[in-house]
Amino acid sequence: MATTARPITAGTALVDELRAWLDEQWDPDLSVGEWWDRLGMAGWAAPMLPVDAYGRGLSRADAMVVAGAIADHGALGAPEGMAISLASPTIAAHGTPEQIDRLIPPAVCGRIAFCQLFSEPGAGSDLAGLTTRAERDGETWHVNGQKVWTSGGQFADMGMLLARTNPEAPKHRGITWFAIDMHQPGIDVRPLREMTGSALFNEVFITDATVGDDNRIGDVGDGWKVANTTLFHERSGMAARGEGVGAAAARAGTVVGDLDKRAGDFVRPRRPRPAAGRPTTASSPAQPQIDLATTMGRLGDPTIRQRIAQSHILGTVSRLNAERLKAVRAGGGDIPGAPNFGKLLTAQILRHNRDLNFDILGARGTLHAYGDSGRDGLADAPGGSGAAAATAFGLMAQALPIYGGTDQIQRNIVGERALGLPKEPGDLAHLPFTQLPKNG
Ligand SMILES: Cc1cc2nc3c(=O)[nH]c(=O)nc-3n(C[C@H](O)[C@H](O)[C@H](O)COP(=O)(O)OP(=O)(O)OC[C@H]3O[C@@H](n4cnc5c(N)ncnc54)[C@H](O)[C@@H]3O)c2cc1C
Repeated sequence: MATTARPITAGTALVDELRAWLDEQWDPDLSVGEWWDRLGMAGWAAPMLPVDAYGRGLSRADAMVVAGAIADHGALGAPEGMAISLASPTIAAHGTPEQIDRLIPPAVCGRIAFCQLFSEPGAGSDLAGLTTRAERDGETWHVNGQKVWTSGGQFADMGMLLARTNPEAPKHRGITWFAIDMHQPGIDVRPLREMTGSALFNEVFITDATVGDDNRIGDVGDGWKVANTTLFHERSGMAARGEGVGAAAARAGTVVGDLDKRAGDFVRPRRPRPAAGRPTTASSPAQPQIDLATTMGRLGDPTIRQRIAQSHILGTVSRLNAERLKAVRAGGGDIPGAPNFGKLLTAQILRHNRDLNFDILGARGTLHAYGDSGRDGLADAPGGSGAAAATAFGLMAQALPIYGGTDQIQRNIVGERALGLPKEPGDLAHLPFTQLPKNG
């Protein structure tokens, strides 16, 4: 297991080292893949990973400083996606040194994209009830089953697969975590179109697919523990949503086809920041709502103003919570349940802003483009592209309160693990999976 280095506080030394490195290494004429190789192998692409797993052992806040410094330099940011945010920290925590050296470099260098093959038609909140089977034959596992809601499955090179390897064990103890190759005949990925008009997620049918035992992460039957590491990183990342700076516009993995393109063509201009110590309206988390109300001529409406103030307050509470957690962790402590109630608050903010946006937009909020041609037309309608973006945001707002564990599940976790409340009655966790009562 990789160890986490003592966190380096983002100070001048760290930023100076990064700037010197960027002066020497950044070249807009490199291909995206070549640039990400440099960034990843130097530990700047995923600096929160441990130092012996291609990272620098930084805190989330310090990693944001790194991302900001890369953007300030005008260089292409690190690859985004589940390979870097979920698979790499999971493999770093539970993989062998050989697996860390084989699987993490292509992930942090954006050479491969990962998807998360966890949820099934009958196993979402009750993830440990999953029925996809993996059966061992020597050094090879044969996998059969169905996954669903697999985000980015159509663009993935590898999948983080949870499969049942022992149906006779209690349900949380018969599961194993694998890194499976998505490019094989036994894996059929079918996109699902959602109400936004896009196909973010997929159904994945797995029929006699194979994965080598060398791609099993953690012990056989210990996949629940490994999956909890993945879910921890998913929830922490969601609670920190909105902090992102300098993310790459290029997309990772072999399927999308960005790796051979010129890196400099993907650099996005950075928004100017207010001068230090001089708060401006741009520092409000409610700025998008202020802009929308201004565009739509609704800024004078007292009820809209009141709800914009509420949006500012919720966003500020969220930021202060994140800073409080950072301060507590810097002192070696922790706040139990913080990622869970952080995600709950983010969900509340998304819903509040969605409803406020739609009230500001009125009937205009019902117009949405489902293709490129419609998008051009909507940009010319009252409210322009800002109004169109607000409607698109509203259609997507209910996603975060569901994925990575619904609001109700977050409350259960906070109740049981942070507040020490009793578990739900009828706990069947000790029974073998095959003896559990089933629906129908
Ligand atoms: C946009 C999006 C992307 C996703 N991406 C992925 C992905 O990449 N990979 C992946 O594996 N999955 C993904 N998911 C699936 C997601 O993790 C599940 O949707 C989620 O865990 C809920 O499971 P479910 O949909 O089966 O709902 P269910 O579990 O059937 O829940 C239905 C309702 O019952 C409530 N409920 C269930 N159990 C309890 C309980 N014990 N106490 C109180 N209330 C309860 C839930 O809160 C919910 O309101 C994604 C989902 C979304 C929306």
